[in-house]
Amino acid sequence: MNDLTALALPTVACRLPQNPTLSLVVPAFNEEECIVEALRKIDLAACRVVDCYEIIIVDDGSTDRTYELACTLCSVMPLRVIRFSRNFGKEQALMAGLQAANGQAVVTMDADGQEPLSALPVMFDHWRNGYKMAYAVLAHRRDETVVKKFLTKAFYNALNFGTDVAIPADARDFRLMDRRVVDAITSLTERNRFMKGLYGWVGFKSIAVPVQLSARQAGQSKFGFRRLSQLALTGVTSFTAWPLRVWTGIGTAVALLSLSYGIFLAGRTFLLGTDLPGWSTLAVGMLFLGGVQLVSIGVLGEYIARIFTDVNGRPGFIIDCVLSSVTGLQ
Ligand code: UDP
Ligand code: MG
Repeated sequence: MNDLTALALPTVACRLPQNPTLSLVVPAFNEEECIVEALRKIDLAACRVVDCYEIIIVDDGSTDRTYELACTLCSVMPLRVIRFSRNFGKEQALMAGLQAANGQAVVTMDADGQEPLSALPVMFDHWRNGYKMAYAVLAHRRDETVVKKFLTKAFYNALNFGTDVAIPADARDFRLMDRRVVDAITSLTERNRFMKGLYGWVGFKSIAVPVQLSARQAGQSKFGFRRLSQLALTGVTSFTAWPLRVWTGIGTAVALLSLSYGIFLAGRTFLLGTDLPGWSTLAVGMLFLGGVQLVSIGVLGEYIARIFTDVNGRPGFIIDCVLSSVTGLQ
């Protein structure tokens, strides 16, 4: 299933099952203030739902004590801690966790305790009843600023415009996936991953579970404006080609307008003769067209950058080391 070499702790009480029913994948980046509490809560919630489970924490190149603190819990819960060689981003951490997971069902969730664990049994029941994916959706966005709500809406509109796959707005990375969904996602080779899009792209029978987020247990959100814009750009350029195609329409419209204006100018000159004024029209036209061309080249550049990173073949992440509870028979 995966090529991770697990190092076992010498003295551990807790055993890692070989064929767990459930794997819980938790990406974490500089979460030293929340990680222990969050893992304890996740462990408690998991053992209420299922007997045989594993927790996989992917330390996404933390510079604080996230990794060390997570490792201390290997003796008290069935835990695997994967450490990246540097920060590769949440999408890659999720992918590494999915690749490492052995469960028949896999749940992904954040390490900051924002997501309500009460949704876990609900998701699990949906899975037992035949759903291949159960994903949390925000019941409301009342706590967000007007600007963030507007930008999120604009992003999902842009993303869903002209695609065959509906990518649900307000869906979270907190979700339960059947083994077949996980295998489908991990078989995808692209490197610029936008997980929310991939979940939708692979298909399968899915159901939304409305949740309300609590405040972060501690620490700060890692997704500021810059990171969110990067993610949005990855999402749009991975799942839609309309930003490329739209320039054909704009180009045609501008060309037709210019032609009509040219005919009008020619007619006027023919009837009324020439006069010097008109340089401002020329200047504005040139500047406007220059701007339009630069924007369209920029859009091309974005797509070429995606192709470049996929073609150069570097892996999406590099694992530094893996520490786990002792592997045991079920
Ligand atoms: N995260 C990560 N790598 C990153 C940034 C974030 O693994 O580069 C993890 C983070 O530790 C948390 C989850 O992704 O477990 C969600 O991050 P955060 O809570 O900052 O995002 P928000 O909830 O504000 O969208
Ligand atoms: Mg959070």
